[in-house]
Amino acid sequence: MNNAKTIVIGAGLAGLTTAYLLQKKGIDVLVLEANDTVGGRIKTITGSTGVTVELGATWFGRQHPTLMQFLDELGLPTFRQHTKGISLFETMSFVPPQKFEIPDSDEPSYRLVGGSSQLIQKLVKKIGSNAIQTNTQITLITEKADQLEVTDASGTIYTAATVIMTLAPNLAINTINYQPNLPKPLVELANATHTWMGESIKFSVEYATPFWKDNQFSGALFSHVGIITEMYDHSSFDNNHFALKGFLNGGTYVLTPEEREAKVIKQLSQCFGVAAENYVAYHEKVWREEPLAFFPYEDLVMGHQNNGDPMYQESYLNNKLFFASSETATENPGYMDGAIVAAQTVTSKIK
Ligand SMILES: Cc1cc2nc3c(=O)[nH]c(=O)nc-3n(C[C@H](O)[C@H](O)[C@H](O)COP(=O)(O)OP(=O)(O)OC[C@H]3O[C@@H](n4cnc5c(N)ncnc54)[C@H](O)[C@@H]3O)c2cc1C
Repeated sequence: MNNAKTIVIGAGLAGLTTAYLLQKKGIDVLVLEANDTVGGRIKTITGSTGVTVELGATWFGRQHPTLMQFLDELGLPTFRQHTKGISLFETMSFVPPQKFEIPDSDEPSYRLVGGSSQLIQKLVKKIGSNAIQTNTQITLITEKADQLEVTDASGTIYTAATVIMTLAPNLAINTINYQPNLPKPLVELANATHTWMGESIKFSVEYATPFWKDNQFSGALFSHVGIITEMYDHSSFDNNHFALKGFLNGGTYVLTPEEREAKVIKQLSQCFGVAAENYVAYHEKVWREEPLAFFPYEDLVMGHQNNGDPMYQESYLNNKLFFASSETATENPGYMDGAIVAAQTVTSKIK
C-alpha cells in the first residue's frame, strides 16, 4: 500500500496512539517506521531469568492523567515502584554511603505489569499489523499540489493528504529533507528543542535472588561518586523475577560496554556487599548511540527546552504536515503522557 489518506511517520508511542485514534475516527492510516521493531523510546527486553527490563520509558504517576486514563481504557494493569527498605546515597568519594528510608509518597511512581512494551503491543493489536510498516526510513517529504509525497531510503514513494511527523523535532528537522523548505523559525526552534533522555544511559543487572531485599535494602541508590547515578529495584510485579535498574553517568558513553559493566558491579559490590557480584546478566542501552532517537545539538540544549512550543501546534506545507512527538505536547512533553496528549491533539485536527 503506497497511498493512504494519512501517513504517520514513526511507530513510537505517539505514532501508534495517533494511528489508533485516527482509526477510531474512521480515518485510513499507514504508519511508516524506520526501525525493524516498533516502540521507539519504549524498549522492554526480557532477560534470561524471565525478568522484564526497561531500557527506555518506565515510570508514570498521577501527574500523568492522560496516560493513566489511556491505560485504563486499554485495560493495562499497573503496579507501584518498590521503594521500601534502606536506600543509599553516596555523597562524597571519601565517606561511606549514607543510609535513609524513602518516605511513603503521596505521588508514588507506577510501572506497567509485564513492562512498558505491553502498551505498544496492545496498540499494535488494535491498529492491525497491516497498517504498520517497519524497515521504512523516511528521508524526504515533498509537497505536490494537494498531496504530500513521502520518500523512503530505498526510493519508494508514498502519498497522503496529511502527514503526521512523530519524530522528536530535532530529529525530524535534521534527518529528513523537506521540499519546499520548512520555515526558518521552525527549523531554528527544532534545533534547540530537547529530546527527552536522548543523552541517557540505562543499565540493569539481573539476579537469581533479590539479595538486596533479603538484606533490608530497597535497591535504591543515588550517587555523586560512582558510575551509577540513580538506581531502583526492578523486580517483576509478582516478585518472581529480580533485577536492579537505573541510569549511568552520561559521560561514560566513551567507555566500552565491558568497562561500564565492571564499574557497575564494583559500585554495587561496595554498596550492597559481595552478593552483588553473583549476577546473571548485565544489560545497557546508550541512547545517544541510537540514530533514530538522538541527533546531536548544535548548541547547549537543556532538558525539556522548547518542548510544547506553540509553533508545534501549527500545521505546515499548506495544512498537510503536522508535528506530534511527545516533545510537541502542551502537557508533560517528553514523557509517555506527552506522547498521548500530542496524539490526541493532532487527531482532533484531522478530518
Ligand atoms: C532512557 C529513557 C528513559 C525514559 N523514561 C521515561 C519514564 O520513566 N517515564 C516517561 O513517561 N517517559 C520516559 N521516557 C520518555 C518516553 O520514552 C518518550 O516520551 C516516548 O516514548 C516518546 O514517544 P514518541 O512516539 O514521541 O517518540 P519515539 O519513541 O522517539 O518515536 C519515534 C519513532 O520514529 C522512528 N523514526 C526515527 N526516524 C525515522 C525516520 N526517518 N523514518 C521513520 N521512522 C523514524 C523511531 O525509530 C521511533 O520508533 C524515557 C525515554 C528514554 C530514552
